[in-house]
Amino acid sequence: MVLLLRKMTFSHNKNFLMRKKIVAGNWKMNKVLDEAVALTSELVNMAKDEVRNDAKIILCPPAIYLTTIQKYIEDAPNFALAAQNCSDKVSGAFTGEISAQMLQSIGVQYVLIGHSERRQYFNETNALLAEKVNTALSFGVSPIFCCGESLEQRQNEDYIGFVKNQLTESLFHLSEEQLKSVVIAYEPIWAIGTGLTASAEQAQEMHAALRAHIASKYGAEVADEISILYGGSVTAASAPELFASPDIDGGLVGGASLKSREFTNIIKAR
Ligand code: PEP
Repeated sequence: MVLLLRKMTFSHNKNFLMRKKIVAGNWKMNKVLDEAVALTSELVNMAKDEVRNDAKIILCPPAIYLTTIQKYIEDAPNFALAAQNCSDKVSGAFTGEISAQMLQSIGVQYVLIGHSERRQYFNETNALLAEKVNTALSFGVSPIFCCGESLEQRQNEDYIGFVKNQLTESLFHLSEEQLKSVVIAYEPIWAIGTGLTASAEQAQEMHAALRAHIASKYGAEVADEISILYGGSVTAASAPELFASPDIDGGLVGGASLKSREFTNIIKAR
């Protein structure tokens, strides 16, 4: 009975959940070096002065800036870095690629895997993403695994089934311990960079479905520990309602993460 009550508390009361609150900023292919440094300094200073919650702030700059940006966040313990991509291969003759081992060697803790732009422009499949997830985890780099449906899929198909299948095919071979190192980012493609944010109800519906899907394979306690972020045109105006939803543990933010004032306000909403 006590155990049952404890489980119910974990599932239904957000304050008792152990999962991390995260706000990540995906800069994509934007900013030259001076701009990247200025943005980071502004964010660190604003966060120090204004952010009173315990959200982890993950910056995803272009890979070429990772070591530089790292110096600017080293005294800000709530900040961490993510690469935007890594190879599925460990090392070798793969010109232009960046390996998970290289990320590990410079102290990068996270990597985005399966962003819809990588799926769309670089033909990354669920099977390839499963390999990338494996390689990242084998070098202690935590994947931020992105998933999400297109507008056409939302309108014409079992869109929840489609996204659940992305998890099944790229993550469900992992052990329980490995899965606990993964962060999931639900990013409906129709909301990325379009200004069309999913409503809190639409996002919550998918997040709850994905958590239930994880629970069906790994059990409710594991599912309750996995952070599931929402991404897709998040702004300081839309963040509070999204982040108040019980299964939304934070955000993966693109455009709005390039502006220090706006991104700080999003972090404060978490
Ligand atoms: C993203 O690219 O991960 C993203 C969510 O972008 P935006 O916030 O600009 O829609």
